[in-house]
This record gives sequence, C-alpha cells and structure tokens, in this order.
Amino acid sequence: MNTAAASTELLLDVQGLRKHYATEHGWLGRSGGKVLAVDGVSFGIASGETLGLVGESGCGKSTTGKLILRLQDPTAGRILWRGQAIEALSQSQMRPVRRELQAVFQDPYSSLNPRIRAADIVAEPLRNYEALSDAAAHERVAQLFQRVGLREDQMVRYPFEFSGGQRQRLGIARALSVQPRLIVCDEPVSALDVSVQAQVINLLMDLQREFHLSYLFIAHDLAVVEHISHRVAVMYLGKIVEIAPKRAIFTRPLHPYTEALLDAVPVPDPAVRKQRRVLAGDVPSPMNPPPGCRFHTRCPLAEERCRREEPPLQQVQPGQWVACHLRQPATPLAVQEHTAA
Ligand code: SF4
Repeated sequence: MNTAAASTELLLDVQGLRKHYATEHGWLGRSGGKVLAVDGVSFGIASGETLGLVGESGCGKSTTGKLILRLQDPTAGRILWRGQAIEALSQSQMRPVRRELQAVFQDPYSSLNPRIRAADIVAEPLRNYEALSDAAAHERVAQLFQRVGLREDQMVRYPFEFSGGQRQRLGIARALSVQPRLIVCDEPVSALDVSVQAQVINLLMDLQREFHLSYLFIAHDLAVVEHISHRVAVMYLGKIVEIAPKRAIFTRPLHPYTEALLDAVPVPDPAVRKQRRVLAGDVPSPMNPPPGCRFHTRCPLAEERCRREEPPLQQVQPGQWVACHLRQPATPLAVQEHTAA
C-alpha cells in the first residue's frame, strides 16, 4: 500500500513494518511477553515531501524512525529506499544508503560529541564519504555553517559553547554535509524555546526548498507539525490510524483519535471556547494491546464490532486513509469540521 502523493518520485516506501521487543522472563519461570512497539506500519514519502508523524508518547513513532534509519532491525516488513529493499542490508551494504538517509535528533547536546570541535563534528560524515584535503573540508564546513546561520569563527568552538538552537543548527549542518535526500527529524525542536523553535523550523523549510529534501518529521506538537508538513500520519499503539494531506487532517479529521488529539490543542484566544472531546482512560500497554480496534477502550464511538474486528487502513477520501469501522469508503461521509466554537 502506497499512501504517498502519486505525482512525484517515491523515495521511501515502508510496508507492514513491525518491531516487537521480547521482554524479560517473569517470576517463577513464566515466559516473558512481547512489546508490540511498531505493529504493521505502511507509508511512503515522496521526493521533496514532509510527512509529519504524530501520536502520544510510546505510540511507536520514534521507533519507526530508528527502523527506517536502520539503527534498529525490524522484526518484519519491508523498507524500500528508492526501490531497493534495505531492511535486511548489512552495515557495510547500508553505507551508500546512509549517505542519503540522515537524521536530526531531539537533544542536539547528547547527539554531539562534547570533546570534538564544531567544525570536526560537521566534517566527520563528510570525511567518511569523500577524500578531502583539510582546506577543502574547511571550505565545505564553512559553507555549511553559513547556510544554517552559524558564523565561520564558531567552527573552533565546542558544543557546550553553543546555545540550544545553535546546537540544533550544528546537527542540521552535520546531516546536510553529505547531501542527503531524506532526513528523519525526531522531535527536532521540542527541547528548544518557542521563539527558537520557529527559527529552526523555518530553516528546515528553507533547506527543503533549496535542496529538494524530504523529511520524516516526528513530533508531538501538532502546531509545529501543521506548519512544516505536507501530509500527516497519526499513530496509536504501534499502528497508523489515519494518514492524509495536512489540510484534511487539520480541518476534517476522520479518525476519532485524530479528532481527540486536535481537540487537546490549546487555542491561544481566551474569547474562543473550544468544545473538547476528552479521551477517557489511559493508553493501554503495548505488551497487551486490546483486541479488535486498539482504540476501542477510549473511543466514544466504539461499537461491539470494534471490540472484535481490527479495522484496516482504507482510503476513505482521495489521499485520506483511515482505520475505523465507521469510516468506510463506500459510505457517504458527513464532513466533520474541526471547529473551535
Ligand atoms: Fe472507534 Fe470503532 Fe472506529 Fe475504533 S473502529 S476508532 S473503536 S469507532
């Protein structure tokens, strides 16, 4: 199933991706269970596209990013990178793919070696792929510094000498250094002040236009996701429950969980009173997900069938895929506006 935009080159095609972790053996020799962190996820990302991946903590969105980067091995499923299956490639076979698939992580400080100068941090991936003289490497790094809004005189500094936003710019420069096609951005701005968040997001969008980059943008902040994404996938307990163009997700969400997530977003206007649908109960354990629809224990619309049958992810509107028994393609759909009344 390819849920990506049809008209442009498909870079990444993820099919039925699974990551199950075996847990420790329990008391008295009882066998351990399995954590179904990612459980049958499929999506595509086209060239130049940003796919936002959202959901509550523990829903499997960061694990999905790590699987795509091959930082972890999937339990099952396929990861096609420009048509090539990469899910079972060895580390050496992954080398040319890694150049095209880079990452920017949430905490730039912990992802940057504190004992290495900024210039060497940015040059490191570059030197892994190209035999460059010191002068050529310096020039390339200086260009990258300038492009991400850092100064050339900062190249000799160590990571602790930068602010949080500057460190994230450093992480972006490092990812950019090998001219990637797709960058997995895992909560890249959630550790930053709000004003700095906007600067980093705008930088990512400028770089996308300039280099025709694609992003898998993993975040829990829906306002940020709305700003940067072309399409958005919503995850719940290891599965995608809705994937659609940004406008559809934010103006007429079709899955009850997407509706609840949007209802939880605060409205920055005291005159606007929002009618919230508050989710009841806690997120069930991924070790023991509910049968049928995984959302049925919290869904206000749940029916008997939802407790028994798992709803497939189906295209309900053009480009809008939803996993819900009440949202069938053949059924005339009432358009549900996400209103702030
Ligand atoms: Fe709710 Fe049932 Fe739809 Fe699941 S399938 S989201 S429980 S209505």
